[in-house]
Amino acid sequence: MLPIERREQMLTWLEKEGTLSITEISNRLHVSEMTVYRDIKPLIEEKKIIKTSGGICLAQVTNVSSTACTYCFKESNNRHPVQIITHDLRVEQLCCPHCGLLRYRDIEKDVSQIICRDFLQNTTISSKMAYFLMDADFNLHCCQPQVLAFDSLKHAEQFQKGFGGIVLRFNEAIEEIHKRMNGQMGCGCKR
Ligand SMILES: [Zn+2]
Ligand SMILES: [Zn+2]
Repeated sequence: MLPIERREQMLTWLEKEGTLSITEISNRLHVSEMTVYRDIKPLIEEKKIIKTSGGICLAQVTNVSSTACTYCFKESNNRHPVQIITHDLRVEQLCCPHCGLLRYRDIEKDVSQIICRDFLQNTTISSKMAYFLMDADFNLHCCQPQVLAFDSLKHAEQFQKGFGGIVLRFNEAIEEIHKRMNGQMGCGCKR
């Protein structure tokens, strides 16, 4: 495995597991701890991850509140941000699933991962696996048409029962938003 592949693998694990110890990484990747330290150094310098007492964790989770959305440039301070990680390990912050999905559509071939938060549980989930609820009668005060992300179909449907809207899979949601935006840039939100 190349260093870049190891870094990508680490980021994948961190997305799923939150934090990892150096020992754990070295065991999983079958490399020495020295190598792990060398691998993570650039990630720390680029502020993609931070060192904790027990190991490392993703940096962007902790500083989401201070970043502007890559797509609509609005300060992202809602609790449903989306992160896109590209193959060259750039991390983009998007204010909400609306922007996340549109941004993904623009740069699809560069995207390694697209991560969002489950609307009810606030857990980190892969957007490609998520269920998206559009048009629900519940205002997030972010971009329109509004999109909420759910980890499970059951939760999406339960929420839909209460607040209406339509449930879509990843690709369907992208196409639906794109269609409604009718080629317009931005989110219908004030910049
Ligand atoms: Zn946005
Ligand atoms: Zn937004």
